[in-house]
Amino acid sequence: MQSTLQATPRAKVKVTAIPGDGIGPEVMRATQTVLAAAGALVEWEEALAGAEAFKRGIAAGATKETLDSIARNGVALKGPLETPVGFGDKSANVTLRKTFEMYGNIRPVRELPGIRTPFSGRGIDFVVVRENVEDVYAGIEHMQTPGVAQCLKIITEVGCERIVRLAAAVAEAEGRKKVTVATKANIMKLTEGMLKRSAEQVMPDYPGLQHEHMIVDNCAHQMVIRPEQFDVTVMTNMNGDILSDLAAGLVGGLGVAPSANLGDEAAMFEAVHGSAPQIAGKGVANPTALLLSSLMMLRHIGDFATARRIEHALYVTLEEGRDLTGDIARDGEGARTAAFVDRIIANLDRE
Ligand code: NAD
Repeated sequence: MQSTLQATPRAKVKVTAIPGDGIGPEVMRATQTVLAAAGALVEWEEALAGAEAFKRGIAAGATKETLDSIARNGVALKGPLETPVGFGDKSANVTLRKTFEMYGNIRPVRELPGIRTPFSGRGIDFVVVRENVEDVYAGIEHMQTPGVAQCLKIITEVGCERIVRLAAAVAEAEGRKKVTVATKANIMKLTEGMLKRSAEQVMPDYPGLQHEHMIVDNCAHQMVIRPEQFDVTVMTNMNGDILSDLAAGLVGGLGVAPSANLGDEAAMFEAVHGSAPQIAGKGVANPTALLLSSLMMLRHIGDFATARRIEHALYVTLEEGRDLTGDIARDGEGARTAAFVDRIIANLDRE
């Protein structure tokens, strides 16, 4: 993969910011406030996508200005986008991922300090690499005859090879040891089997990495039974979608799960969660997932020092356990998003 990664920036890097829908603007504001307080080398260019774009009659869910901004900057931070039911052509998320061929969805799954789960202390630390533009998400779905619907699963050799190579690159970059390829190749021998065969051909190019294959339903089982065995996992689109949400649940849930969408031309960073309409506008959303996504973004643009500083402040805040939002509060008393943000900022200079 040609990377959009840049050397350590000296001047500010322009980043497209898409606040999105529901809690999106709240968690975006919170994230931008923390990044500004830490002096991140980022200059925001705000752009529109999601519900408002659909309301304006833009069927793809993202305006031309938004697409131009991402094309120009090559880096975006995005809030969640609602997929409207009953109008609009498709998902704005799919539009953005496909327009820029962001074929790799990287979802780190790591225990966080202070976040207690039934799995705490197991040393869970792995990455789900999900193919992001093929599979049943290619959008070819129709009624065959009344009462019979068909959806096509599209998998290509090019798509398989590049996602396996991306998984191997992530493993090497992070000093990891093993790539687990999880497929349903026993049933879908041609499509899912293509990923398995591709990995068998490609992984010998990475002699420093172990490679194993696991049937995806067993992989789901293993993630719950013995999650600490995983290092980097790679899957086709829908399997990766489902198992990465499962994996997020192991370490504290959607409120703390970050992700990156990577392609050759652009990279877009976003929380795994959606627009959470039930809590939107109440000022109680947890900004951790988008903040962690923004740290992946800062590392992508080369601002490692700021990323490390914010990460430390966030970890101290989570460990202290004061002013946490309701979804992760230990005493059941959830704080407001703004109080949590103030606490992180106050911890920026803590050793
Ligand atoms: P959701 O992630 O919005 O919410 C699931 C549950 O998690 C809810 O109980 C919600 O309150 C809670 N939650 C999520 N994020 C939280 C946060 N930051 N802080 C505290 N609690 C949080 O999933 P959903 O309800 O299935 O989807 C709502 C909308 O979001 C739909 O329109 C869906 O299409 C869209 N969506 C968008 C994306 C994206 O843009 N990448 C991803 C998933 C869903």
